[in-house]
Amino acid sequence: MANRGGKESERIVLGELSALVIRSPRRTVSLQVNPDLSLVMKAPVDTPEPFLRSFFERRRSWVERHLKRMARIRDAAPIWADGGRLPFLGSELELRVLPGARAQARLADGAVVATVRDPADALAVRQAVERLYTREAARRLPPMVDDCLARASPRRFPRPELRVRTMRSRWGSCDAKACVITFNSRLLRFRPEVIDCVIMHELAHFKYRKHGPRFYGILAELCPEYEELQAELADVYLE
Ligand SMILES: [Zn+2]
Repeated sequence: MANRGGKESERIVLGELSALVIRSPRRTVSLQVNPDLSLVMKAPVDTPEPFLRSFFERRRSWVERHLKRMARIRDAAPIWADGGRLPFLGSELELRVLPGARAQARLADGAVVATVRDPADALAVRQAVERLYTREAARRLPPMVDDCLARASPRRFPRPELRVRTMRSRWGSCDAKACVITFNSRLLRFRPEVIDCVIMHELAHFKYRKHGPRFYGILAELCPEYEELQAELADVYLE
């Protein structure tokens, strides 16, 4: 990163990591990882250097995790650019990326149209598309759950409260006590049969919390092809 106005910039260096320090009349210290993989620490004007160093030190593994993830997204991803193909409910949508003041994405006949300030910013495109998937999941999953509940009768499952989030490590979770099922918005990448299977899986948790033989006994009744369908989920890398 270039120095500003010829003034030498202050940096905190930890091994291979180096954070630019920007001092200003603020009250707290912050550390951010930018999409270009640069690190910036913002700090009150009079913060001593050793304090900044130990602040950085304590967040080191967090920073390394984020850098890895962002590098992967950046390198992996012509998918997050104009012309990319996005899996959606068993088919594919074309991604169109346009410059625009506000980052957002919408569905428009057979395509996802994303507007972001800088169309080359894959991370911004991806975030806008993830928000679209979350909105679509919130709209499309409730009727699918209703349908699964109807198909699951005469077994009586409670009608859960549904939540949708973008998650990195799971496709769904069931809090039987609170009667809440949370789904990963990224489920919308899959064909409806796979999504139904995840719904049935979470419903089955109302009977058994753990993945034991009795749990799978119920799941096999609700979704006889669960092994094949769940295998499709396992092929996809969540980051
Ligand atoms: Zn489970």
